[in-house]
Amino acid sequence: MKSLANARGSVGGRRGSLRRWRDSLRSRDRQGAVALLFFLLAATAFAQIPTPESVLGHKPGDDFYLATYEDSLGYFQKLAAATNRVKLVHVGKSTQGREWWIAFISDPQNLAQLDHYKDVSRRLAQARGVSEEQARTLARETRPIIHIDGGLHASEVANHQHTIQLGYDLAALETPEIQTIRQNLIVELWFSINPDGQSIVANWYRQNVGSPYEVAPLPVLYQEYVGHDNNRDGYMLNMLESREITKATLETQPLVFYTQHQSAPFPGRIYLPPFADPISGNMHPLMLRWLSLIGMTIAQHLDDRGLTGSMHQETFDVWYPGYIDNIGNFRHTISFFTETALYRYATPHFYTVDDFPSSRQALGTEMLYSSPWKGGWWRLADACRYMYEADMAVLNLSSKYREQMTYNKYRAARDTIERFQKEPPFAYEIPREQHDAPTAAMLMEKLMLNGIEIHQSAKPDSWVIPMDQPWAGLVKELFEPQVYPALSQRPYDVTGWTVPYQMGVEVHTMTTPLSKAFRDSLRNVKDMSGLASPFNRAANASFRAVNEILAANGKVAFVGDEIAATDIDKSKLDAILSENHLRAGSATTKDAAKESGKPVKARRVGLYRSWVASIDEGWTRWILEQFKFPFTNLYNADIVSGHLREHYDVIVIPDMAERQIIDGHRRGTIPEQYAGGLGDEGVQELRDFVTAGGTLITFNNASLFAINQFKLPVDNALAGLRPDQFFCSGSLLTVHIEDAKNPLVAGLTPDLAVMFERGPAFDTKTDFKGAVLARYPKERSPLMSGYLAGPDRLQGKAAALAAEYGKGRIILLGFKPQWRGQSHGAYKFFFNAFYSLE
Ligand SMILES: [Zn+2]
Repeated sequence: MKSLANARGSVGGRRGSLRRWRDSLRSRDRQGAVALLFFLLAATAFAQIPTPESVLGHKPGDDFYLATYEDSLGYFQKLAAATNRVKLVHVGKSTQGREWWIAFISDPQNLAQLDHYKDVSRRLAQARGVSEEQARTLARETRPIIHIDGGLHASEVANHQHTIQLGYDLAALETPEIQTIRQNLIVELWFSINPDGQSIVANWYRQNVGSPYEVAPLPVLYQEYVGHDNNRDGYMLNMLESREITKATLETQPLVFYTQHQSAPFPGRIYLPPFADPISGNMHPLMLRWLSLIGMTIAQHLDDRGLTGSMHQETFDVWYPGYIDNIGNFRHTISFFTETALYRYATPHFYTVDDFPSSRQALGTEMLYSSPWKGGWWRLADACRYMYEADMAVLNLSSKYREQMTYNKYRAARDTIERFQKEPPFAYEIPREQHDAPTAAMLMEKLMLNGIEIHQSAKPDSWVIPMDQPWAGLVKELFEPQVYPALSQRPYDVTGWTVPYQMGVEVHTMTTPLSKAFRDSLRNVKDMSGLASPFNRAANASFRAVNEILAANGKVAFVGDEIAATDIDKSKLDAILSENHLRAGSATTKDAAKESGKPVKARRVGLYRSWVASIDEGWTRWILEQFKFPFTNLYNADIVSGHLREHYDVIVIPDMAERQIIDGHRRGTIPEQYAGGLGDEGVQELRDFVTAGGTLITFNNASLFAINQFKLPVDNALAGLRPDQFFCSGSLLTVHIEDAKNPLVAGLTPDLAVMFERGPAFDTKTDFKGAVLARYPKERSPLMSGYLAGPDRLQGKAAALAAEYGKGRIILLGFKPQWRGQSHGAYKFFFNAFYSLE
């Protein structure tokens, strides 16, 4: 880090001159000595701001060294204790219980007024009640807040390592550049935005560094439940980390939200905005203009310092609004990420042009790759330097244009309010009476966590979201069906996510302007209390209630679609039901005692957990915990050791490729205890389990594992198709329930949306025994939201099967029934299988 070394050099130089001044003290007069003494004290105080290496024993970015979160926090506590330019603020606890702190860095007089500046940011962000003239004045006078963070993806290690030096430099250096930043801006530095992950990865690397497994992949998810999906939870806010980040962001309303990542398209050294198309039309264009300007400014700043290889517009689009480092654009915070190059952890690597893709071996200059990287060593220190300089470019730009950028934040909010006063949708109306009303209430709660205003109308009895609010673009983005433009490049993430479809919530779009009388009759809603929906099998919340009743030794019976509870204290039952937004239905103890009332037994559930850490497994585990299903994690050794039928009734295999399930990590690439998969032995144990009466459930591509390994009379109708014949990388498709009487589909709506993400579709052969649970429509395209090439390949094909095998069965789901904790409408495809009705 050249500029940092220079900065440290100047600190050393200052210490040298202090010694000379001290020597000269003796020969000076008393008055001069006093003046010098004051100067000395000030200088000494400065010199005492501890450098990272004085505390950690390493420079952040050193080869083979990674600081844990505890190291980072320890350093920032010392930094904050040494200077009033740093204020630490506690934001909450991480999922694994780490105390989570962030640092605000600015001149002391700015920090003293932090609450005032936050208040100004919030007023401008809301726009309402602020005139044009006031906005101009506030924009001129305020000190805007700039969010910079140490990246959510913990395996991208420079993210959280580089923030340590950044924190020191912003607080301690006296260069004109940094003085100006401290004067004009308040830096909200999340030195780690994934504290658990930083420590998990650093400890894993420390354990392996110097061994043959130095660069071995991590065998667990670095954020509990979600791993690499931790940046994809931006609107759903399932994880408490996402909720804390959103809460803090709504409070500070930063002008810029900048997240570091580390997977640049090779051989680029850093990937910067402008991003690839397509882009949502629900963002204010000013946000996109500033994004592109910032990206180009970073590239220019890096080239100016001889840091080559900036790249734009390849690979990464920001079509999906769920990125937590993108969603802020809908709230008019200029939000973006950059991707710096990474080898593995803190291990350096040498590249030659021969390693490059052939199209880039000639090192040709391109418009958006104007300074091609020529190869050579790539170290963690290089990645830290690129990130550090990118931060500085963002801070310099924000400092220079702070007034214009701040005003634009106000302008975008004002424009949004005005837009939806003039054009539809004018509001969304969500009836309180729903197939699954508690899930509809959950959708309302999610929107409130996102800062969206929800109202209640008396007639009809509905929730109403008027669109004349500052962040209405986000509501439209989440509620409308996505129409993905013609495929110009591979979509980076999913193409359709329409949240009401996924959650199975009925929403009406109001396409005529709201009458004044109706608008005035609305009252603001702060929570969902008071909702009490029938205790039946349509409501997902009923499954949580059933599990709670069973855990309290109560009894439960299914009476048709209704649920009756017996053998439980009434007050206890009422508490369980009301916490779940439920009320006892018409089914009674008497009904339950009759023949129609089917007593429910919780089946013993095992969830397969591979050492090839699976995000799909993590989401499944999280959902089972949320709905209070008891279950056991099954590792390879647990399955291979057999006797599965004695201990389990149901085993779930989340979405994984067949080879991953069977082979796992290759031996020699990871410490031995994590090597290998189920192998032939484990697969045979699973066959024995189902033969003896067990149920196996396979999600998405794990279904192909089951078809092949159990030799099921089922074909994948999509096998071998080229992308021009069929392509669907994450869209909402409609399926129709075929066998409505089958208890496995109880409570599902007759037609529903499922998340199809590169999965299979099933053709049953003549000797197939079992049930087709759900099918894609035969006469029309199943596409509801997103992109689908070759719909005819899916039409009429089975989407969900229950195949008989021995005394047991295998439930094949050719989609993601629990996608990112969003597809609530499809959860019952596996929830139902967790009860026996005998
Ligand atoms: Zn990343």
